[in-house]
Amino acid sequence: MNSKHFAACSFSALFIALALALAPFSNAMTTAPTSVDLVVTGGTVVMMDADSQVLADGALAINGGRIIAVGRRDEIENKYRGREVINARGRVVMPGLINSHTHIPMTLFRGLGDDLDLNEWLTQYIFPAEAKNVTEDFVRVGTRLGLAEMIRGGTTTYCDMYYFEDAIADETAKAGVRGVLGETVIDFPVADNKTHEEAMAYTGRYVAKWQKHPLITPAIAPHAPYTVSEEHLRAISKFSERTGAPIVTHVAETKKEVSDVTRDHGASPINYLARIGFLSERVIAAHAVHITTEEIELLKKFGVGVAHNPQSNMKLASGVAPVPEMLRANIRLGLGTDGAASNNDLSMWEEMDTAAKLHKLHSNDPRVVSAREALEMATRDGARALHLEHEIGSLETGKRADLIVVDLDALNQTPLYNIFAQLVYATKAADVRTVVIEGRVVMRDRQLLTLNEAAVKREARAYRERVARSLALTPAVTGDAAAGPPPTKGKKKATPGRKKRAPRS
Ligand SMILES: [Zn+2]
Repeated sequence: MNSKHFAACSFSALFIALALALAPFSNAMTTAPTSVDLVVTGGTVVMMDADSQVLADGALAINGGRIIAVGRRDEIENKYRGREVINARGRVVMPGLINSHTHIPMTLFRGLGDDLDLNEWLTQYIFPAEAKNVTEDFVRVGTRLGLAEMIRGGTTTYCDMYYFEDAIADETAKAGVRGVLGETVIDFPVADNKTHEEAMAYTGRYVAKWQKHPLITPAIAPHAPYTVSEEHLRAISKFSERTGAPIVTHVAETKKEVSDVTRDHGASPINYLARIGFLSERVIAAHAVHITTEEIELLKKFGVGVAHNPQSNMKLASGVAPVPEMLRANIRLGLGTDGAASNNDLSMWEEMDTAAKLHKLHSNDPRVVSAREALEMATRDGARALHLEHEIGSLETGKRADLIVVDLDALNQTPLYNIFAQLVYATKAADVRTVVIEGRVVMRDRQLLTLNEAAVKREARAYRERVARSLALTPAVTGDAAAGPPPTKGKKKATPGRKKRAPRS
């Protein structure tokens, strides 16, 4: 035995002796609090799990971006010590809200032509405005504005479709927000890509770049069955199958779409998409307003996620989606705001409130779409709509730590009888206090931590001036409020926007 071997032996012996000597204390050692990244403690925890559990005095332990324990406050505090602690006493702790349909840079077109019929709004305002203004910088500025608004309102995940989606992913990752972000593919030259081939090549690079990111799910977004050809839809389907990237699209939004697709393809949009093999468990379809019971069965059969956008559908007078029927069929049904140009904000609180009330009115039955169901569509079911139910949508052990702390003491929330009704019918975006995404605090006590709010507003207002100039809009009386009506020359057909289509609504 050489001396080196002897030294190794004696070290092992020493280690064993130490372990034996410490054995009587091992129980005490394992019950000492485990150090974790974050503990959120003392709130009413609305878990939004399958049993809709509400813990009156609950807490959560978070480590490595995931929830590692949820339970009673005393249990969690005994077991875990947070390197960071959020005291939620007197407040609600709930899953972050999931906005299942947006066009985030369109925040810069907020209030650009309202109360118009769809055709006038598109051809005189949105298409020309996009043709003249959408660049990568425009997209980044609009995305930062939308992200700041969403974080302030407690939205932690959103599903998007627009141009320059790689830049949107970059801004979203920097702000620490979760997104299913689809690059728009459309059969017209648009701001970032001029041909289908260019768009597919861009999307290929974009998906490969982001696919392993913990916050970003890169997706491909064919605009709609009436703006993308059958051949291109089939190619997109194959792309999704090959890469696993979700497909984000619009479907059956208006009666005109249904009649046009039926005329061109001999079937309604959903039947047509089913026939060409497009529908699958990777598809997320916005709107589904004008659909039949048979088509609801198809959506269920193929596991398609649906994004219901009640405020946009109301504002553009598109129609009322059969939400009570879709809920009964247990469709993967989420809620979305749609772009800010047709809403005009990104508040999921308003969207929940509207969803619950619209369907009561439309069905003449106040029992349909309860407050709890509306809240489920914005959380757990929203996660199902985005095919992310194993990761987000509820506060359960193992899931990603996406949660919000909501005040309960605003005048509009006083007094409190039922927590679900209070959250859906009385709570506003301004009542959200603290936001955590992937275990990272992105807003604390109303203070944004990943975005410079003053700079976001300044840059957005600068774009307002450029957009207004590009459309020769009359300045509003106040100088920076809503745009006035376009002058007569704005109605000329010779605008560059005429040939260009955009993923509106
Ligand atoms: Zn849309």
